[in-house]
Amino acid sequence: MNDQIKYLLQESDIPTTWYNLAADLRNPPAPVLHPATHEPITPADLLPIFPENIIAQEVSTEREIEIPGPVREIYKQWRPSPLFRARRLEKALDTPARIYYKYEGVSPAGSHKPNSAIAQAYYNKVAGVKRLVTETGAGQWGSSLAMACNFFGLACEVYMVRVSYNQKPYRRAIMETFGAKVTASPSPTTEAGRALLAKNPESSGSLGMAISEAVEVAAKDPDTKYALGSVLNHVLLHQTVIGKEAALQMKLAEDEPDIVIACTGGGSNFGGMAFPFIGEVLRGERQPLRIVAVEPEACPSLTRGRYAYDYGDTAHLAPITKMHTLGSTFVPPGFHAGGLRYHGMAPLVSQVVEEGLAEATTVAQLESFAAGVQFARAEGIVPAPESNHAIAAGIREALKCKEEGISRAILINVSGHGHFDMMAYLDFIGGKLQNYAYPEEEIAMALAGLPNVGDV
Ligand SMILES: *Cc1c(COP(=O)(O)O)cnc(C)c1O
Repeated sequence: MNDQIKYLLQESDIPTTWYNLAADLRNPPAPVLHPATHEPITPADLLPIFPENIIAQEVSTEREIEIPGPVREIYKQWRPSPLFRARRLEKALDTPARIYYKYEGVSPAGSHKPNSAIAQAYYNKVAGVKRLVTETGAGQWGSSLAMACNFFGLACEVYMVRVSYNQKPYRRAIMETFGAKVTASPSPTTEAGRALLAKNPESSGSLGMAISEAVEVAAKDPDTKYALGSVLNHVLLHQTVIGKEAALQMKLAEDEPDIVIACTGGGSNFGGMAFPFIGEVLRGERQPLRIVAVEPEACPSLTRGRYAYDYGDTAHLAPITKMHTLGSTFVPPGFHAGGLRYHGMAPLVSQVVEEGLAEATTVAQLESFAAGVQFARAEGIVPAPESNHAIAAGIREALKCKEEGISRAILINVSGHGHFDMMAYLDFIGGKLQNYAYPEEEIAMALAGLPNVGDV
């Protein structure tokens, strides 16, 4: 161990391959099903919405997948991202723990999401696609994809969850600055959107609804494909640059993590950080360690959802996958400010939790923001509300170290900065936020709509 604050790598240390966890898992991933027939989906079924090269990656079991040169060139603008030792936070907590954080907020969009957006735009470009269509919640993914499409000369269309469209005009401004077209969802521009509006003209929208609209647009136009910012195997794959770099940086720090912590919405920053470490454990190259996925109490798919086959979207156009889910009709409470609102979880993240390779926990809204404020005051970085969940869980572990008089190394993924979420911080500081645990009856109601897929 040494006394540095930050551990920096060179451009030449940017990984040359992504790590594919599917190569090392003991059990094969559950088959993905067609939303209409409930039969195992074939690559051909996916061709209307994804290009062939991405589909190949989605089902690959190759351990290391080469990062294409043009993608790595763009990564160089902000990668390798820094790893910090949170020495002032340690002092503030008066803990013997060694707290490290990998900071993905240095990307131009301010989060980890460009790691996959750049790759997806590249693969679509080389496949001859002209336009990408996607959904976005808070706007992080939409702005990342808008930037990536602009780099590769693709048109970009974004369906933005209506409540965010109204509350987060600056994220929309970024997308439009990059040249994307942004539509509030549900919208009258698609069949799925019109059906949703007919049922509820005041709908605040959800990621599930916006996905339906985006998938429909892609399926109807041969020059347009769909891009998803999380959940799918290839997205988690692209994010593994985070964990690969972090493992190298922990070596520079002459330390090894005892606990790795990341927040989980769809699971991509968690998978990106955790999978390279889990892979080393599965291959016997590293002692088992604790890996912790953290989600909001208001959207508790991993901890209170069911591990079952469910639809990926509201209109049932996207494939059915086996995952921890709250039901595809789940709509998160409007006053939940912490992001991480998707009803399901990445199948690979669900599987590692189900197989005991990782654990899951929840953090309530107020604890999450309090942790973010404490982190900001100690480290000078205002984290994204999503990242606050991981920080809160890290602080819990650091305080446990203090109680037990043990020094453990805690590695936290700080997935982004919160500069576009300052309204949520103002609400917290003004005492306007409250805790909200999703009611059991509501979860039961949404789960009643799970597809009946029989024995798969
Ligand atoms: C989107 C986002 C998340 C959650 O998405 P995952 O796919 O679970 O990583 C977390 N943090 C930030 C900053 C985000 O923008």
